[in-house]
Amino acid sequence: MKHVVVVGAGLGGLTAGALLAKEGYSVTILEQHTVVGGCATTFKRKGGYTCEVGLHEMDAVYGDRVKETFASLGVYEHVTFVQPDAFYHIATDELAFTMPHDREAAIEKLVLTFPHEKKAILEYFGLLETITREFEQLMTASWWQYAMFPFVFRHILKYRTTSTKTLMERLFKDETLKLILNANVGYYSDKVENLSFLLHSLAQHSYYSGGGWYIKGGSQKFSDHLASVVRQHGGEVITKATVTQIEAHAVTYMHKKQTITIESDIVISNLAPAATYALADIPYHEKRQPASSILTIYIGFKHNLKTVYGEKPYASFFFKGIHDIEAYDAMLDSAIEERGFGFTDYSQIDSGLTSDPDKSFGVILTTDFLVEWQDLSKEAYEQKKAMLLERFLDKLELEYPNIREYIEFAEVATAKTIQRYIKTPNGTAYGFAPTPEQFFRIPQVKSKKRENLYFVGAWVMGGGFSPTIMSGKICYEQICTT
Ligand SMILES: Cc1cc2nc3c(=O)[nH]c(=O)nc-3n(C[C@H](O)[C@H](O)[C@H](O)COP(=O)(O)OP(=O)(O)OC[C@H]3O[C@@H](n4cnc5c(N)ncnc54)[C@H](O)[C@@H]3O)c2cc1C
Repeated sequence: MKHVVVVGAGLGGLTAGALLAKEGYSVTILEQHTVVGGCATTFKRKGGYTCEVGLHEMDAVYGDRVKETFASLGVYEHVTFVQPDAFYHIATDELAFTMPHDREAAIEKLVLTFPHEKKAILEYFGLLETITREFEQLMTASWWQYAMFPFVFRHILKYRTTSTKTLMERLFKDETLKLILNANVGYYSDKVENLSFLLHSLAQHSYYSGGGWYIKGGSQKFSDHLASVVRQHGGEVITKATVTQIEAHAVTYMHKKQTITIESDIVISNLAPAATYALADIPYHEKRQPASSILTIYIGFKHNLKTVYGEKPYASFFFKGIHDIEAYDAMLDSAIEERGFGFTDYSQIDSGLTSDPDKSFGVILTTDFLVEWQDLSKEAYEQKKAMLLERFLDKLELEYPNIREYIEFAEVATAKTIQRYIKTPNGTAYGFAPTPEQFFRIPQVKSKKRENLYFVGAWVMGGGFSPTIMSGKICYEQICTT
């Protein structure tokens, strides 16, 4: 029985580890944090709060991308998924638009609101679908399909280096419509200009065709379930275990001040390639840029927001003073406190995040860059966080009058916080920046530099729950067929 050591218990590592353990491999997962899950974790706060670290909406829960993996790992039996009423809501000074989950409902509503753009709307949704179908084919392509690449995958080829902004400008005239279609760009990237249209297509189509979902009780439930599958099949999941060296057939880690070395036939890394090769002492130069990060404000409300404000959107984006994607992109060059923001109100769904149903949990989020925090003293860092907390609560109060009255606690987490907890370059949760230049690659899970080394996670196929879970499945399949 081959011994597989997985470095890092993010979603990619946990998925690969669980599938391999179930297949009969001897699996050891080593995680430096106190809990498994990486970005897919929760933490507790006094007053009965379970705080969601990251998940707002997961796509593809019942879709082809992950269905087989979830069924095989018993996810549907052990994890409860809840669906909000809509995909997202966007509000500017002049605009309030709620985007339905359902593709047909979204098209209908958009055409009704922007009848002059009907042809372009239909073309846009058609393109999202076609590009997605081509990607699905590409994942399982036969030699003859590769040989016919320019014909079989002609849309992928055509839009390979197109940015989402370029496509928007080519297709639509209405600036408001362009902004609406990109309201959730912060889920994937920083500027609309910097986002590959291929990624935009894959991600948005997945949400439009299957909806966005939340995991009842928090994403930790999902990560813990995957870890339990590893253990049930005789594997080990060790937390507070920081890997310090990856050799050809051994992995060394620090655990409770002890240095431990274990033998390995195969190593799977959930880390960035540069971090992995540094641990393996293999020379490597990274040419690609990491993605941006996210600033999050975690808020515990001593009253249930749904009771106080009634039915409101679950995932909202508030862009005051922003009228088009040009202004949206320009906004990201301004100071953090000047930026628009998203607000996820978990009281709108059966989130299971508070032990007391009269309380609720919510999150403010905006795009963040590590460079904005890097050179600050500890004191300046804390001051900046405190200033941002006040400024964003002021903004939130414009949308939810007197909301401060209901707050029991509020905490700011920055790009630096993400870097501290999951140790990623740039404090990103999204791997390499999904720019038109960087995004399109055939996923490489097998290292070209060491025979028995594999990669999973956001650095393989891009960030997000479904892509990292898929990377784990692809890695598992390659190991099983090698
Ligand atoms: C605030 C926020 C909001 C998000 N919202 C969404 C959303 O709504 N929808 C969505 O789909 N996605 C969302 N994401 C993105 C998604 O959570 C991530 O892309 C995904 O979980 C990353 O998974 P991964 O497999 O790359 O592992 P990671 O989460 O990067 O985990 C890597 C693991 O490796 C461990 N590690 C690092 N170094 C070592 C070492 N030397 N030894 C041992 N272990 C080590 C880390 O501790 C970590 O646990 C969000 C992320 C964040 C942070």
